[in-house]
Amino acid sequence: MANKIQPDRPPYIIIHYAEIGVKGKNRSFFERKLQDNVKRTLRSVGPGLLEQSRRIQSRLLVTLTAAGQERLEEIIVRLQKVFGVAYFAPAWRVEPELKTIEPLVLQLLRQRDFTTFRITTRKSERGFPHSAHLTNELVGATVVEQMQKPVKLKGADVDCRIDLFYQSAFVYCDRYEGPGGLPVGSSGRVTLMLSGGIDSPVAAYYAAKRGVNLVAVHFHSLPYTTETAIEKIRQLIRVLNDYQPRIKLYLVALTPIQQEILVNTDEKLRVVLYRRFMFRITEEIARREGAQAIITGESIGQVASQTIENMAVIDDCIKLPVLRPLIGFDKNEIIDQAVRIESYDISIQPHVDCCTLFVPKHPATRARLEDVLANERRLSVAELVETAVSTAEYEIIDQ
Ligand code: ATP
Ligand code: MG
Repeated sequence: MANKIQPDRPPYIIIHYAEIGVKGKNRSFFERKLQDNVKRTLRSVGPGLLEQSRRIQSRLLVTLTAAGQERLEEIIVRLQKVFGVAYFAPAWRVEPELKTIEPLVLQLLRQRDFTTFRITTRKSERGFPHSAHLTNELVGATVVEQMQKPVKLKGADVDCRIDLFYQSAFVYCDRYEGPGGLPVGSSGRVTLMLSGGIDSPVAAYYAAKRGVNLVAVHFHSLPYTTETAIEKIRQLIRVLNDYQPRIKLYLVALTPIQQEILVNTDEKLRVVLYRRFMFRITEEIARREGAQAIITGESIGQVASQTIENMAVIDDCIKLPVLRPLIGFDKNEIIDQAVRIESYDISIQPHVDCCTLFVPKHPATRARLEDVLANERRLSVAELVETAVSTAEYEIIDQ
């Protein structure tokens, strides 16, 4: 603790959890998940950056190595995408005494350009003799006297924080927002139906935000769709890797099934039939992966297949719950979010999706289940599904 302070190299990062604090009995489970994810995030920036991480009094206290301190900027960028993090702050640590806290506060403030300031103390340390309020006043008075800068309680240029816990005083002036949510992996596993479009990556983001671990499934119609379309899927996964560093991607050929549908069934029902197959295959992959639900990028009424009637007919062929995080979003809201998570520019690259191939001009918007079932009787459904699953390929995409 007595190390010389380097004002540009905070050795610690204090991470505050989002909702985990209220999770009762499961709390330590969530905390450990978050801790694992933070460790993995640091490893993905580079080796040997983390000296230690501890869970202390509703915070995660990360100690950086000298190499970690060097790469703070990159670490900050990554931590801003770790679900479960409410906010975090690179910090310095001194003995919890005014005579050590004040020089550090002055040192940190002296290297900044500002007019007004405030001190905000948070006290979770009984041993410290002063209340948080009095600490603010005492340290504030010292800064006023030494630097001739005025205090401003609302909207100050700098808010210098003193966090008293772990028999220490942690001091910092910069705090960064995390994305909130729950740690990835704390809510189980799901299969994500990932197309090259705008919607499904955004749906994936929201699902991951609530703590699920994603296994991606993409359907292609090679040779009618291109290898470029698959490369685009990989790029989208790399965007999602910021939130979940390791994602398994299944690539499934829908072509043989589409060919069967094309020759044997009513044109109007094709889209619904394709989609029922996609759901069955995804469900089978989910079973093999131990995943408990299917995520899609559908919202109500966006395209012909997305009427409530059609969704009901499609869901009818499987048992797993289908979760649709975007159900109530307008297209422009989805686009805004796609821009924010940086999937948008990839999604708008032109590509041919298997679902848009061989699609009739006027697909049924209200397919009736009995018509669909009658059509499927002309196909060897189980066999087609089995072949598609057993010939599916997968790859792991790592950050
Ligand atoms: P998106 O922009 O996500 O492609 P969309 O508005 O184009 O969505 P559809 O093409 O009807 O809508 O697809 C609805 C959902 O079905 C997608 O969000 C995705 O979850 C899934 N889906 C569509 N095509 C594929 C595919 N080729 N592989 C995997 N899932 C797909
Ligand atoms: Mg699409």
